Amino acid sequence: MALSTKATHQQTRDHNERLVVRTLYDLGPISRAEVARLTGLTRTTVSDVVSTLLDDGVVREIGRGPSSGGKAPILLEVHDDARLVVGLDLGEEHFAGSLVNLRGEIRRTVELAVDGRDGAAALALVFDLLDRLLDGSTAPLLGIGIGTPGLVDSRTGTIRRAVNLDWRDLPLGAIVAERYAVPVNVANDSQAAALAEYTYAGGDRVPNLIAIRVGRGVGAGLILRGALFQGDGSGAGEIGHVVIADDGALCRCGRNGCLETVAGMSAIEAQATAATGRPTDLVALRVAIEAGDRWALDIADAAGAVLGRAIAGLIGALDIQRIVLLGPVAELGEPWLASVRREAWSRALALLADDIQIDVAGPTTNVVIRGASALLVARELGLSLVR
Ligand SMILES: [Zn+2]
Repeated sequence: MALSTKATHQQTRDHNERLVVRTLYDLGPISRAEVARLTGLTRTTVSDVVSTLLDDGVVREIGRGPSSGGKAPILLEVHDDARLVVGLDLGEEHFAGSLVNLRGEIRRTVELAVDGRDGAAALALVFDLLDRLLDGSTAPLLGIGIGTPGLVDSRTGTIRRAVNLDWRDLPLGAIVAERYAVPVNVANDSQAAALAEYTYAGGDRVPNLIAIRVGRGVGAGLILRGALFQGDGSGAGEIGHVVIADDGALCRCGRNGCLETVAGMSAIEAQATAATGRPTDLVALRVAIEAGDRWALDIADAAGAVLGRAIAGLIGALDIQRIVLLGPVAELGEPWLASVRREAWSRALALLADDIQIDVAGPTTNVVIRGASALLVARELGLSLVR
């Protein structure tokens, strides 16, 4: 009896603490009285919780705000550098890692070339990267987030299959957690990108969103009701390997005509190279688009249209209004984006299409690193991402 009462007290305390931190994270700097008003907690409870958070260093006082008659209130905010998180992006050519603060701001980055390593050698490279990052870190570490290509079961931190790294059923999360003694989250790169968009959106945060990453691969990360949705086999959002062209080109997955073979970066570069008769990458294509070259505009239009059709299907299934595009291909700019929008809007149910917002995310470099860290930040701040 006594035990269960104690447990309930502790739960209430944790709940109140998360509520206060979340309010300060999204709306600070504000006063204790304002926190009480916004959360519905009593002033005594807020003072009590804040004093613990001040001791922990997670929250800090930053002087007095404007007075509304009486004594000017002391303002509080979350101390963004009080805790750090490691975010890793296990990319195809490089493994990159950063120390990230509670706001998703990168404090230090280390990058190591993969040079064809796979299997155990690739795992050793992950350890090497983490050792270098954590050497001399200045604040307590909340945990390690890992974004990786491939099929990932985030609940267990297991990589079910990552073709390039030759990892199959690798319990990466458990291995890293044991070695570094901190919580570890593993997500696929598109899912990590969705988490970054959700977690660091601040006042613009919406409960449902789709983030689509268009690089060599094409994948969507789905945030439903404030939580990452992975589906029954961890593959929710794997739209890149849905076959859309019956007699299409051979895909990395072994089949023909996947979305990736038409809308992905390699496909776009191959078309640009064919059109110009010399090696033409995305950057050169973008220059040609900006110069108004017809062939370049046509390639951007066709690639965008195929993606737009896939998005219409997602909208029909989920009725999610906020869609964010990112990755190297998203940097193609306006003609590509216009084509994505046109096809998505014209093919989705008209009633749903009216409210859809499709945009290219802000600066998309390091989005996987920030996303990988986001789950841990969200957990600490009680952003209701963890089920
Ligand atoms: Zn495929």
